[in-house]
Amino acid sequence: MQQISNIFTELTSPKKIVITTHQKPDGDAMGSSLGMFHFLQSFGHQVQVISPTNWAKFLDWMPGCSSVIDYENETGKSNTLIADADWIFCLDFNTLSRTKKMESALAETKAIRLLIDHHELPQTAAFTYGVSDTSKSSTCEMVYDFIKASGFHDRIDENIAQCLYTGLMTDTGSFRFPSTSADVHSMVADLKKKGLQHSVIHEHLFDQFSENRLRFIGNTLLNRMEVFFEYNTALIAIPQSDLIKYDIKTGDTEGLVNYPLSIEGIKLAAIIIDRGEERKCSFRSKGDFDVNTFARNHFDGGGHFHAAGGQSKEPLEKVAEKFRHAIESYKSELSSYQF
Ligand code: 5GP
Ligand code: MN
Repeated sequence: MQQISNIFTELTSPKKIVITTHQKPDGDAMGSSLGMFHFLQSFGHQVQVISPTNWAKFLDWMPGCSSVIDYENETGKSNTLIADADWIFCLDFNTLSRTKKMESALAETKAIRLLIDHHELPQTAAFTYGVSDTSKSSTCEMVYDFIKASGFHDRIDENIAQCLYTGLMTDTGSFRFPSTSADVHSMVADLKKKGLQHSVIHEHLFDQFSENRLRFIGNTLLNRMEVFFEYNTALIAIPQSDLIKYDIKTGDTEGLVNYPLSIEGIKLAAIIIDRGEERKCSFRSKGDFDVNTFARNHFDGGGHFHAAGGQSKEPLEKVAEKFRHAIESYKSELSSYQF
């Protein structure tokens, strides 16, 4: 994988460009994709964002979101765009398998694949150009760095600012995680000068819950959470029947895994959701516990040191049991609590 700066001189010659991200895109995935979309459009390139799957409704307000294609809904059109592209930007993921059904189209295209990502263990052989930096707070921060380094900082407008702030804010847990560097705050200051309206974004993301979603959270915390104080750990396991009962849609479970971390002493939080076709896991930690390695070793997943995910095809109770069993071998690490 060559340095992404090698493409800067090519930015001004017309291209067909696809931008894609991981399945079930979150704020950072959609924000970085749409931020890059607006930037590349300013050069007159033909640009299309393709999401491997659908996304949470609370991201629909984002400038440019209505032009995004869902690969699962428009597979034929997407495959043609992917096959015919000159460049494919791969943002906020680093192994092609994170795009699920899109994986083979991405692997087979003759287009040049470019990576911008902040997760561990990139599949560098799959990308011609790229930048991978696990010290970065978010892919949105990296897209901002990319734009600045390209020499076209003046193209950052209000749309780009709204998109990039979204991922910067969500991936830093509203600027509280350790990844929130001085550079992150400088970026926000700069985006404000470009017209960023941050309060509107917070309202879109956090104050648009349905009544059902709030009641679902209540039920989850009351009836689906187990706390293992001797391990400083909590587990939430959600059966599919809850998702049906409360009419839970993509994105409605976002952030749930963080609740147990607000209990004093809790160092590791896990959530397992029965999504029917698979059991999806999310892990969050504080201090010195590495959930990226934990997810990789036990749940066919990965991510970051303090935030990772995984999956399983086994029934919910089996996966929950696997988790309860897995933490036993980390007892000494988990029971010592220090930041
Ligand atoms: P979340 O728990 O919010 O779904 O994901 C947390 C982090 O872990 C994200 O950065 C996400 O990209 C990563 N992640 C989530 N699920 C998986 C997975 O199944 N495999 C890998 N490699 N990473 C995952
Ligand atoms: Mn991210």
